[in-house]
Parts: sequence; C-alpha cells; structure tokens
Amino acid sequence: MNLILMGLPGAGKGTQADKIVDKYGVPHISTGDMFRAAIKNGTDLGLRAKAFMDEGALVPDEVTIGIVRERLSKDDCKEGFLLDGFPRTVAQASALEEILQELDRQLDHVLYIKVPREDLFKRLTGRWICPECGTAYHEVFNPPQEQGKCDKDGSELIQRDDDKPETVDKRLEVNLEQTKPLVDFYEEKGYLRNVDGQQDIDKVFEDVDALLKGSNA
Ligand SMILES: [Zn+2]
Repeated sequence: MNLILMGLPGAGKGTQADKIVDKYGVPHISTGDMFRAAIKNGTDLGLRAKAFMDEGALVPDEVTIGIVRERLSKDDCKEGFLLDGFPRTVAQASALEEILQELDRQLDHVLYIKVPREDLFKRLTGRWICPECGTAYHEVFNPPQEQGKCDKDGSELIQRDDDKPETVDKRLEVNLEQTKPLVDFYEEKGYLRNVDGQQDIDKVFEDVDALLKGSNA
C-alpha cells in the first residue's frame, strides 16, 4: 500500500497518519523525520542537507529527492509506505514517479483531506496557551472554564504568533497556492482521493479506511 497523505495545515493530517499507521502498519515517512534521520546517520545526503539548513537555506530538490529515494529503498517500505509532507511541488512529484519506477512500485492513493479554508482558519486561530504551565486550549473545541484564563492556575492565556489571524491567513494562502498544482497533478494521474475532513476525526478515518480496504479487495 503506497500512499501519500495531503492536507492543508489544520486539516488533521497528523491524526489520520497515526491511525493509518496503527491499522495498516505502513511506516509513516514525514519529511522532517527523514531529514533528521539522514543527518543523525551522517549519510552523504544528510550532511549536504544539514549544510543548507545550517545556513537557513532551502534544501534543494536533488538533495531532498535523494533522501526520499534512500528512505523508500529500505526494507520496512517493501510492503508500503505513507508519505507525509513530500512531494511539495510538481517537480518533486515527477521525481517521485521516477523513484517508484526504479523500485518497480507504483502509487495506490493520494489521500487529500479536504477542509474549507474558513474552517481551517477557525481551527487554527482558536488556539490559546497558558504561559505558566503550557496547557493548550481551543476557543471552540476545548475552551477553558473561564474565558481567557487557565483552568489550572488562572493565568492569562496567550496566543502564539503562529496562531494569530494574520499569520494563519498568510500560511493558508501560501499552502493553498503550493497544494493546488499538486492536487491537479495527481487528479490527472488518477491517484487523487478526496476525503471530507470536515467530519469528526473517527468519521474521517472511517472514510479513509473504506478507501484503503477497497484497494485491497
Ligand atoms: Zn496554566
């Protein structure tokens, strides 16, 4: 089962990834983990990636793609994998096709967890945290008993810069622009499966599960 998981920030990608891994036992391959492992193991590509990251520069595609190739060639990916955070661009998606061809594999599904932008905005801007104890709250999903105050110690809750409306709006904009061509690419190739991410978490997974089971039948 060779899968790619896509979704904008706040769509619940991480939760669904955990559930897929739990049920199907495929390794969860996120770009971040992949880079960290390559750097820790001191592979040639890992060291090259680190040099860029240390300078605060973007890691070039050839390096990223090389790291993906190494990772997908490992034994634990023989029965499948769940890619998360890669590919990010159509160029990377094309490179992935080549890698899979070399490995004599092909994609089964590209799961795209879809949530309307207004909803993502609400989800992402509702986060508040306690500066004293670090407890996280959400205006809608997990509000404190008294508005703006921590349940545990009564501290005034604060909003991280990342969760402020203008930052969230910008982040969604950038992500949407980046995601659109990829979605079109996979749609054209026939791999795209839209999943309604507006439902509650378990229902979203039911839909994902039904799709994945269908592919095994
Ligand atoms: Zn607190």
